[in-house]
Amino acid sequence: MRILLVEDEAKTAAYLRRGLAENGFTVELAARGDDGLHLALGEGFDLLILDVLLPGLDGWSLLAELRRAGRTTPAIFLTARDAVADRVKGLDLGADDYLVKPFAFSELLARVRSILRRGPVRRDEVLRIADLEIDPSRRRATRAGLRLDLTPKEFALLELLARRRGHPQSRTVIAEEVWDVNFDCDSNVVDVHIRRLRAKVDDPFPQKLIRTVRGVGYALDDEP
Ligand code: CA
Repeated sequence: MRILLVEDEAKTAAYLRRGLAENGFTVELAARGDDGLHLALGEGFDLLILDVLLPGLDGWSLLAELRRAGRTTPAIFLTARDAVADRVKGLDLGADDYLVKPFAFSELLARVRSILRRGPVRRDEVLRIADLEIDPSRRRATRAGLRLDLTPKEFALLELLARRRGHPQSRTVIAEEVWDVNFDCDSNVVDVHIRRLRAKVDDPFPQKLIRTVRGVGYALDDEP
């Protein structure tokens, strides 16, 4: 398993690289964001570990550029910023996880293993609920034949609810499955994304599909 670590603090970088190497990972290191982007675009990495504040190009821009180029390599952000708004921003850009500095190495290792363990999901069948169509293999969703412009996380959230249609999903389950993190304290990250998803999937159409299940969470179904 090859990991690209983009971190400009030399001590932290050396410490993480050694720890990951000791656990059997091959680690490439970049100290600048622009160098990291170059490496990430050029070579096949299984995972990216990105600092946010970096010379050359910040971690957010790096990931945004990579996603724009169609690369889906999973990414974990390391950051000193723990404000929810920043977290939402990072996750919106397609980060798979978030670790707030300082963190224990064992915690990073657990997140790395968890992300790499996620097997490929069946992505061949088109999911249909009322006039909503979700094509996981092409990452496309339409309603009444109209293309929905969704961020990667909004798409993942919609796909999760669609695969379990009619079954309410708790915020904890959603956070774990869509972001692979535990938002015990700030589950409003899920609420924020549901609100944005509704604005695109439900608001323009008479029939509402995303349902709030009081005391439980959210469900997707076409019940009246
Ligand atoms: Ca930094």
